[in-house]
Amino acid sequence: MKAPMDRWYVGLVRSLVLVLGLLVAGQVAAVELSKKNIEAALDAAYKKYKGLQEGANADYIPALAKVDSNIYGIALVTTDGKVYSVGDIKSEVSIQSISKVFTAALVMDESGPRSLEENMGVDATGQVFNSIVAIEQYKGAEMNPLVNAGAITATSMVKGEMYGDVWGKIESTYNNFAGRKLPLLQDVYESEAATNQRNQAIAHLMFAYGHIKNDPLRATDIYTRGCSVGVNAKDLAMMAATLANAGTNPVTGKQAMKSENVPELLAVMATAGLYDDSGKWLYKTGLPAKSGVGGGIIAVSPGKFGIAVISPPLDAAGNSVRAQKAIADISEALGGNPYEPAK
Ligand code: GLN
Repeated sequence: MKAPMDRWYVGLVRSLVLVLGLLVAGQVAAVELSKKNIEAALDAAYKKYKGLQEGANADYIPALAKVDSNIYGIALVTTDGKVYSVGDIKSEVSIQSISKVFTAALVMDESGPRSLEENMGVDATGQVFNSIVAIEQYKGAEMNPLVNAGAITATSMVKGEMYGDVWGKIESTYNNFAGRKLPLLQDVYESEAATNQRNQAIAHLMFAYGHIKNDPLRATDIYTRGCSVGVNAKDLAMMAATLANAGTNPVTGKQAMKSENVPELLAVMATAGLYDDSGKWLYKTGLPAKSGVGGGIIAVSPGKFGIAVISPPLDAAGNSVRAQKAIADISEALGGNPYEPAK
């Protein structure tokens, strides 16, 4: 009488364990960031776009036109500090607009995330990154810290009496994100400083509308210096991975920004990281990202990894052609889209 009952019960438990096991395995497979999977995704994207000849180097800053267009490097750093790369990860290009993310992080930490929202706003402008029309539309409000007007304003908000105090804080913030002392590319700085009259005009407008409250030319110059910091693909991936890891560099273990401010910063990257193509990018990848006219793009898969690609030729919106394609492929292969339902 007892024996058949026991067998029936054991069978049910076995089936349940099997079903649960399959479900758990399915979940794990959906998020597995194994060495094999990551290396395969990086290699495939590298090869697929190596021969792509689209876009052109930025040339409105003379030094950028001279950068080797063939530089092409991909790096990915996981939140547990593993570093993967393919291609050229030695060449340094100027960080350019990607620096805006890290200056914004510093201002958020010093003055709270509301300080940016209240001063220049956190909305996409739908205009080019150095648009003057976008400033005029709402008198310098309803913008964001990732376009030039917002970034120069954010730079002016960094606390410090002297130029050196402000620059010192900005520089060490960038270094903490990257996990090494980043160089300043003097030739880029000089070239941009000699030709940045448009950014000076933008800063003066932001001053006129009351968003910048100290010397607008000083803010422009410090901003220009920040844009001239040299980075390789690995540095950029490390900076992105620090954001993916809630503000703590996953290799050095050093906190680069307060974890409570990371969600707001990622939200601005999602809204405005690729200028007026930000919507298209988010639609395709779901990833908060930021591009720079030096040819770099960083993207963040929160809690998983940071990824970066450097390739100087840009499309019409000012975003690296190869970097956009390679990052989209790699993230797709690794399940990086944070909006993707768990499989
Ligand atoms: N330094 C550049 C500028 O101010 C940065 C622009 C960019 O990377 N989009 O024009």
